[in-house]
Amino acid sequence: MRTLVYGLGESGISAASVLISLDEQVRVADTADSQQLRDTVVRLGVEGVLGADASVLEGIDRVVVSPGIRPRDAILREAEVRGIPVVSEVALGLEILGSSAQVVAVTGTNGKTTVVDMLHWIFEAAEVPHVVAGNSWRALTSCLDEVRKTGLLVLEVSSFQLHYRGSGGFAVAALLNTRPDHLNWHASFEEYAHDKLRVFEDQGPEDLALVSVADPIGRGAAGDLMAETVVIGEGDSKVVGDELLLRGEPVALASELRFAGAHNHENALFAAAAASKLSVSNDKIRASLQSYSLKPHRMEVVAERDSVLYVDDSKATNPAAVAAALGSFERPVVLILGGSEKGTDFTEVLPLLGRCRAVVCQGEAGPRLHDYLAATGVEDVYLAPDLAEATGRAASLARPGDVVLLSPGCASFDQFTGYSERGEAFAHLVREMMNKVPK
Ligand code: ADP
Repeated sequence: MRTLVYGLGESGISAASVLISLDEQVRVADTADSQQLRDTVVRLGVEGVLGADASVLEGIDRVVVSPGIRPRDAILREAEVRGIPVVSEVALGLEILGSSAQVVAVTGTNGKTTVVDMLHWIFEAAEVPHVVAGNSWRALTSCLDEVRKTGLLVLEVSSFQLHYRGSGGFAVAALLNTRPDHLNWHASFEEYAHDKLRVFEDQGPEDLALVSVADPIGRGAAGDLMAETVVIGEGDSKVVGDELLLRGEPVALASELRFAGAHNHENALFAAAAASKLSVSNDKIRASLQSYSLKPHRMEVVAERDSVLYVDDSKATNPAAVAAALGSFERPVVLILGGSEKGTDFTEVLPLLGRCRAVVCQGEAGPRLHDYLAATGVEDVYLAPDLAEATGRAASLARPGDVVLLSPGCASFDQFTGYSERGEAFAHLVREMMNKVPK
């Protein structure tokens, strides 16, 4: 079998390397052409086609595709016409692993990294050997030996990776939520939702499926799944008062956790349910959740001055994440919104804007968001050209007791290389402002 590895990013290089190590016939390709890519092809030591077009499919039996390439890409469409199977790098990794590891797969529009990180924390504390890979973590094909050794894989899977998934069910599959996002990659919301649901494919009655009561897509599918299904937020697996209950048993008290927000408590229940399926006791789950802190740029308190709290939620790149952030605060919020323009619909945020003292729109999407919010009757909405000016404006609008929240609901590429750089810039701006302006 001759495999085309299409897309020479981190996961493509890793997929090609593993296939080469298995003595498979490999051709690598990318539509781009640069010195760096040429060096990569030379390093791999296989046939490489740069500036590729559909002719690269000649003599190919299957394609391993990088997550950045859209299904309507010309080469992938041609592969479909010719009946050549296309799989993601994750699917290739799972195929090579076969049944040598149990897999906990986590997908959803928001919260994947958090749930995977919580689970990683719980397993570490409980001394359960495991490997974390996929999506925002390292490429699965780069750590197959480690996965085999531990026998347990915690896998973060995106809708892109599920679109081109192979066969085989997951021991635990979690769909956290399904909100409009990445519609520049998927043909439609329906396709996106369909891909997310593929996380439950090929599961059997001995497996566990997790969905959220708040997610109509996951909740709607719950009755038809083959696996044992737990609906988080329903029945006896939900937050009641201060208690996080899993199958009626407390696995944490919200008041003893280091993270806030109903969405993060729900994330904790997903992680607890997965850990419990892998035989971690409720006591151990509870002890580890108590010491868990969220990863940076997710509702991270960066400063407090004159009773104003400055919170960096730069990782919020879609409206659902903004809504979750706003829902976490009882106190008035001055919200900084905006970034790269994806044409996203912000209707979902509107019901929560009652909590905002003001909204400052900034960046490429700033003018559209400003006009949209003003037209829907939001009174205190301001426009700033960039994050630096928006942060200054937000600070001047805040009163003691308020939160200044950067939860942009947009990607960061209009001004930054990524959400981390944006969050760091915000924290830096806040600290600089505090040093300069005596209040
Ligand atoms: P992902 O890996 O899916 O992008 P992250 O855990 O990195 O998710 O969180 C991304 C953003 O979504 C953050 O702003 C975070 O506060 C928010 N978020 C986390 N969990 C949820 C959830 N269950 N529902 C809505 N928003 C969430």
